[in-house]
Amino acid sequence: MQRPYNFSAGPAAIPAEVLEQAAAEMLDWHGSGMGVMEMSHRGKEFISIYEQAEADLRELLAVPPQFKILFMQGGGLAENAIVPLNLSRAATVDFVVTGSWSQKSQKEARKYASEVNVIASGEDSGFTTLPDPARWQPSKGASYLHICSNETINGVEYHELPDLRALGCDAPLVIDFSSHVASRPVDWSRVGLAFGGAQKNLGPAGLTLVVVRDDLLGHALSICPSAFDYKIVAENQSMYNTPPTWGIYIAGLTFQWLKRQREGTASGIAAMEQRNIAKAKLLYEAIDQSRLYINKVAPNCRSRMNIPFFLRDETRNDAFLAGAKQRGLLQLKGHKSVGGMRASIYNAMPLSGVQALVDYMREFEQLHA
Ligand SMILES: *Cc1c(COP(=O)(O)O)cnc(C)c1O
Repeated sequence: MQRPYNFSAGPAAIPAEVLEQAAAEMLDWHGSGMGVMEMSHRGKEFISIYEQAEADLRELLAVPPQFKILFMQGGGLAENAIVPLNLSRAATVDFVVTGSWSQKSQKEARKYASEVNVIASGEDSGFTTLPDPARWQPSKGASYLHICSNETINGVEYHELPDLRALGCDAPLVIDFSSHVASRPVDWSRVGLAFGGAQKNLGPAGLTLVVVRDDLLGHALSICPSAFDYKIVAENQSMYNTPPTWGIYIAGLTFQWLKRQREGTASGIAAMEQRNIAKAKLLYEAIDQSRLYINKVAPNCRSRMNIPFFLRDETRNDAFLAGAKQRGLLQLKGHKSVGGMRASIYNAMPLSGVQALVDYMREFEQLHA
């Protein structure tokens, strides 16, 4: 069955193979007589699902042994509080603001840290560029420095993570990688903690991934809820309370799907990265070569995952969206704070989907030239 191409920013498309497998196993997982949603999280069936998912993710993202992988709940927004509750030590924390998500993060941290410094911002450019890390001046003694490594709404992405040690800063780097996790490798030597909601690129909403370096555990503020204390969650293999079992299962199927992907000699995340580069190139070139569409983000900061674009004639927005829907190109409307269009092209979007979008955009442009 050829499904429509779904460009939603999140919750977003999930590979059809994953959904088909989940459907086939819905009533009876591997002869257990139970569906995954009906199992005890402490039973051997679910423990095996959990352990496989964790091992596959560790392999795919090459997570070093000194990092814990936590499967939590609350989404990216809850992490905006949970991170300072665990890492701020009620002291100074630094933020680089590059769009809507990092803006929200720094506001929330003010409830828990004694001082929040926005040490660099892309606001002057309307969040179309990233401030150059070489010019950042981290605060002395900051507990951590937070960035959003892919701004889902504004469409800007760090193509290399900042090297804080090169800036003479030994604070751990915290990254919100919700919307590009598993789309490219992560340089863990530069990261202290990474978090992301699953619903962009890993699975269903309700699961939140946290990858945290061991030395950052055990410093939670006394007001931190126990279920959100990373040390307690880690000591209990993410089962201090009931984890989002369904989300872990679907993410696990997605990890296995990722492991099967090949591009030439590359596999897994390396294959996805190649495919994601090709998809983004196809769409950005189509936008840049057209006279109707425009993307305002500086080329070296453009996201491979979330591509906002505008029609120069905005009176045609509704016609554009209606025609897209007719052709099976879904959820292209831009975020309400930005307007225009946005194509989110996560791992589950094949090159053929981007090609179909580009073909439609050309056709629409010709019709309305
Ligand atoms: C979607 C998103 C969030 C918010 O996630 P919720 O699960 O809705 O809390 C946070 N950060 C980024 C970068 C996102 O894309």
